[in-house]
Amino acid sequence: MSDVIHLLPDHVANQIAAGEVVQRPASVVKELLENSIDAGAQNIQLYIKEAGKILIKVVDDGVGMSITDARLSFERHATSKITSAEDLFRLNTKGFRGEALASIAAIAHVELKTRRETEEVGTCIKIEGSHITSQEPSSTAKGTSISVKNLFYNIPARRNFLKSDTVEMRHIIDEFQRVALAHPKIAFSLIHNASELFQLPGSNYRQRITNILGGKTNEKLVPVNEETEIIKISGFVGKPEFAKRTRGEQFFFVNDRYIKSPYLNHAVTAAFEGLLKDKAYPSYFLYLTVDPGSIDINIHPTKTEIKFDDDHALYAILRSSIKHSLGQFNVAPVLDFER
Ligand code: ADP
Ligand code: MG
Repeated sequence: MSDVIHLLPDHVANQIAAGEVVQRPASVVKELLENSIDAGAQNIQLYIKEAGKILIKVVDDGVGMSITDARLSFERHATSKITSAEDLFRLNTKGFRGEALASIAAIAHVELKTRRETEEVGTCIKIEGSHITSQEPSSTAKGTSISVKNLFYNIPARRNFLKSDTVEMRHIIDEFQRVALAHPKIAFSLIHNASELFQLPGSNYRQRITNILGGKTNEKLVPVNEETEIIKISGFVGKPEFAKRTRGEQFFFVNDRYIKSPYLNHAVTAAFEGLLKDKAYPSYFLYLTVDPGSIDINIHPTKTEIKFDDDHALYAILRSSIKHSLGQFNVAPVLDFER
């Protein structure tokens, strides 16, 4: 009998990897926005058509890419961000896996235009199902513009699985807001079909939160500030009387990256103990800074979960600093008869 094992061709391997990284249009949005941030962009525009099913386009004014790098950026495990496994524990970029562009290009029609400041002419690459179909010189602005059209065009099952435009757009807006909240100094805009949904000038944390969630948010915010040997905490919690019936306004950022953490969420809820009505969820926008060596982000391809070395200590510090802030702002407990 002959041997039966063979290596999969790249485009097949890329498509399989894409299944993990790209669940829906919002996943593409996240990856592209993060690439623009890693490229040092100060202005990032996101254009969406039909909830990302037709077009997702990100335009940035970051460092851009050389002609060769532009081609290489679509190879799997091709990255400028790390060179060794140790680098994973001193990360200061959003990306490091070198998988996003390869995955996206395996399952969509992609056009990349990019130019570095030092070059007079940029380059334009078109790629479909992992195959480059053209590369030409292009007189494009400094930075990078990337269009992702017809997502999942070659995976009908995935395309059919997409939800209504309203639902997919909700996911896109969520990702956009998370990234924008993590990076207040960067200006962002979001245009869906012909309407401008967000136009966010570069600002500070308080203004960014208010610009995204509406003018009245400002007066609801109680600042939280704490610095210990293992963690720096800054940001805001919403006053208890403004707690919501849904969890919509709960945000943790660790080293400028939005993350989900039921455990730390519990610490916040514990700090609000006795201050909330039944079934009310406090709002919070908490920015945690820790030594990159004390966390592991590489536990899930979408990087929204983190493993902390010392999560019990973080829990205790978070809870006590929020309690302290709420106390300082004289937040009165909810009276019993209000229940
Ligand atoms: P990763 O972000 O993990 O490195 P990606 O597949 O997202 O992997 O991107 C591959 C490489 O392409 C990046 O490491 C970066 O060098 C380059 N790149 C991607 N997007 C941009 C951009 N908007 N501006 C400049 N370079 C980019
Ligand atoms: Mg990336």
